[in-house]
Amino acid sequence: MYTLEQLHEEIKRCTRCPLHKTRRNAVPGEGSGRLGIMIVGEAPGSSEDEQGRPFVGAAGSLLNKTLSTLGVERGDLYITNVVKCRPPGNRTPTREEVAACLPYLLRQIEILRPRRIIALGAVSAGALLGLIGRQVERVGDVRGKCFRGKVAGVDVEICVTYHPAAVLRNPRLRGTFAEDLAAFLGGGGLERYF
Ligand code: SF4
Repeated sequence: MYTLEQLHEEIKRCTRCPLHKTRRNAVPGEGSGRLGIMIVGEAPGSSEDEQGRPFVGAAGSLLNKTLSTLGVERGDLYITNVVKCRPPGNRTPTREEVAACLPYLLRQIEILRPRRIIALGAVSAGALLGLIGRQVERVGDVRGKCFRGKVAGVDVEICVTYHPAAVLRNPRLRGTFAEDLAAFLGGGGLERYF
């Protein structure tokens, strides 16, 4: 079986969808995953594309601050995105781009075998919950909830909250975002299964 490092190298060389033409760096993901938790966002933005690392821009800064408040080391998680290369102008990735890139996320799950995946935002929630047969109309319908299922042969809980970029655009979501992460990272959320 591939190691995570080998998979990261493959992602960096990937030309499977048109996003490879405009990227500066692919952003495979990072972190030890030691806590058995993955965080999955939508796609890299400008700072991530420049550095080849996930969540290092303004949204990443909010995520880091929230994790730090909760006493969670970012490096103990595994942080990635559904789509590994930046869509030009930070547009939403197309259905085709998500479909082309999703096999990499499945392989990351297969290697890391997380017990819980936190999906940030509608694209991530839609892609991940789609893997266990759930359709997502609006992120508000599934936010704050956890769903059990088998993904890539691994029994996981998929828990949904807002994308930190949405929280930056709408600061009123900040408290809910922090409460969701506290529940999902603290082993809570047990009352949130659906
Ligand atoms: S977005 Fe994914 S599928 Fe498309 S080129 Fe990048 S790594 Fe490959």
